[in-house]
Amino acid sequence: MERILTSNDLAVKLEEDIISRVEKLREENHVPKLAIVRVGENPNDISYEKSLVKKGENYKIDIQRVLLDESITTEELKSEIEKLNNDDSVTGMIIFRPLPKHIDEEVIQQTVCWKKDVDCMTPTNLAKIFQGDFSSFQPATPYASMKILEYYDIDLEGKNVAIVNRSMVLGKPMAMMVLGKNGTPIICHSRTKDLKKILKEADVVVTATGRAKSLTRDFLTEDSIVIDVGVSMGEDGKLSGDADFEDLKDFVKGITPRLGGVGKITSTLLMDQIVQAKEKSLK
Ligand code: NAP
Repeated sequence: MERILTSNDLAVKLEEDIISRVEKLREENHVPKLAIVRVGENPNDISYEKSLVKKGENYKIDIQRVLLDESITTEELKSEIEKLNNDDSVTGMIIFRPLPKHIDEEVIQQTVCWKKDVDCMTPTNLAKIFQGDFSSFQPATPYASMKILEYYDIDLEGKNVAIVNRSMVLGKPMAMMVLGKNGTPIICHSRTKDLKKILKEADVVVTATGRAKSLTRDFLTEDSIVIDVGVSMGEDGKLSGDADFEDLKDFVKGITPRLGGVGKITSTLLMDQIVQAKEKSLK
């Protein structure tokens, strides 16, 4: 197995598959369309939006941007989402989160039609994941992490997988996906005691703390496989993963890089789910 677990070749395969499926859909006048709902001007959201717009152009998936003022109320946002639910030309939607604090996120999660919930934020789709049913949409980041493991034939059956993150977008659904592969997930967080011991004993470590270069050799062994989801600014002013990649790349058994790693295929998988949603709507 390669030591550097890049997603570059996998990204090409996924893209080729998406492009050919969209071509087929378009030949029959079925156009997949992603609605992007952005509230406010968060730079991270703007940058993600740009990358989705670019992917949309490349894959010939239509993009509808719904840009809303930071001051929007929960009721007003709910009504914008209902319009997208009722618009037959919209295949699926992503609502950038976190939403401003005054918005009731639970109301918004419950408003999105589950059939258009390609970002897997609705209670219906999350419940499926927690029931071990992966036939519907999956949250893109843990899905991307699983795809990389699968691509490198890393069988999780009977393996201990430590996940350092307990959020609903990453840690918790990732744990369910690991269970789905008969692995043993261990969810860790900021109050976990003896993180070093747990991570050293794990076969696979999935890290998403957002603490640049904090995952060092002391937490790992030469047999560790590291899936690094974190992206944050390091002390050197450069974006970095959670892992101290330069030091670990010659030490651990396998590690994803920051560029060409998990992040590279996350938005591609979201697009894949838009195409899936369109295909399913025709059945
Ligand atoms: P988050 O909600 O703040 O979660 C961070 C998690 O790390 C929490 O569960 C936190 O524990 C845990 N943590 C923090 N410090 C820790 C420590 N010292 N020891 C053990 N656990 C610790 O953040 P998020 O939104 O999930 O994002 C996490 C990272 O993933 C960020 O860098 C983000 O940019 C990145 N991300 C990447 C992608 C991608 O596609 N590559 C997508 C989404 C997010 P508590 O719960 O106890 O606070």
